[in-house]
This record gives sequence, C-alpha cells and structure tokens, in this order.
Amino acid sequence: MKVLVTVLDDFINLFFPALCRSCGESLVRGEEFICTECLVGIKRTGYHLDRGNQLEQIFWGRCAVDRAAAFSVYNRGSCIRKLIHKMKYKDDPEIGFMLGRLYGTYLKGSSFIEGIDLLIPVPLHPAKQRQRGYNQSGYIAQGLSFTTGIPVNDKILIRTSGSSTQTKRHRYERWENVQGLFTVTDSESINGRHVMVVDDVITTGSTMEACVEALTASSDTRVSVVALAVTQRLTV
Ligand SMILES: [Zn+2]
Repeated sequence: MKVLVTVLDDFINLFFPALCRSCGESLVRGEEFICTECLVGIKRTGYHLDRGNQLEQIFWGRCAVDRAAAFSVYNRGSCIRKLIHKMKYKDDPEIGFMLGRLYGTYLKGSSFIEGIDLLIPVPLHPAKQRQRGYNQSGYIAQGLSFTTGIPVNDKILIRTSGSSTQTKRHRYERWENVQGLFTVTDSESINGRHVMVVDDVITTGSTMEACVEALTASSDTRVSVVALAVTQRLTV
C-alpha cells in the first residue's frame, strides 16, 4: 500500500509539481514546502537555548518578559524574509503554519517551552485583518502548537484601536503609539499561568511590550515571547 501511495505521489507530482515556497524550484520526495537548500539557508539564532540572549535584553527595564526567542534573522534577501513576505502579502498564510511547525521541532523538549500553558498570537488591527483576511501570527501559533502540543488561544488578547502602520517612526513614538492598543478579555483565565506571545517579526519590541503590559496589567501572569524572525539591529 505504501509503495502504491508513493507511486501515486510521484505521478501527481509529475503533473502538479510541488514547488519550494522560497525559491520556486521543484521539491523532491521527502521535502515539504521548502527545499533542502533553502531550509539549510535559514540562519537560526539558537536563542531558545540561551537565557539572557540579545532579544531578551531589549525587554530588560521595559517590561516583564520571562524568556524570548526568534527562529531566524530578518536579513535582506534571506530565505526567512522572503517566506514571511509571502505569508503576509501574497495570501499564503499556510507558510506561517509550516514555519511555526518547523520552529516547534527545535523548541520541543527545550526548557524554553517548558511550563508554557498557552500560545497567544499578537492580534492584528481589525481593519488590517479584514483586508488581509487572516492573521499570520495565528497561523504561526497553530504551527507551533502542532509540534509542541501547547494550545492556542486567540480570544484572550484583543486589539482595541490605533493606527495600523508604524514602519517609519522613531521607537519612542512607536512605543507611544502602541500603548493601550491591546486589552485582555478574561484576565482570570491567565492568572497564575505562563503564556507565550507569538509574532512574525520582532523589530523594536514595542508591539510585544504593549502585549506584555496588557497581559500582566490585572493578573499574575508570566509572559514569554517568540517570533519567526528578529531584525538584526535590535536597538535603535
Ligand atoms: Zn528552495
């Protein structure tokens, strides 16, 4: 039966070849969603194994982040950047799930996710979500959940208001801009728990900071943060 399935797979592949979501080359048997070359090309930070890493440091003195990690670095021309771009702007949210699942295989069994009760995706601005049709961070969280078994809750943290774009502003203004943007719908349910906020890219950390502020405002909650990528210049 297995042989038959494999033959059938090869047959389907002949007419509908699966392509690497990053470089567009045909995938060979055993490869899934990205080719081996692109997979090897994803530069991993290893932050989940390094307490006190550079990413954790950007939150020091700003908010109570327990642990922080990112899968890769958001360099220009990098595979992860291409994939994230496609995931966000080319109507391909499945990439988020696949990358989350992949990152989960590295996180699984590490102290980084030990004791995490819940994965919480950073909510998108409602207008942006309507326009895009999905929240990519939700897909990443589902992928992480798939491999780690930690449940996802996308109802607890919601976005209240505010402007949707903030790429060109100074960090301080951005910080100002995101404060009070998030609110927690049921603080009792996260009281005494350890939650992990999931985002696609961490740039200055101000969005995460605002999420952490909201999550810890009225409950005794431990918060860790995780993302697919971090921009190389962590401080501005
Ligand atoms: Zn490729």
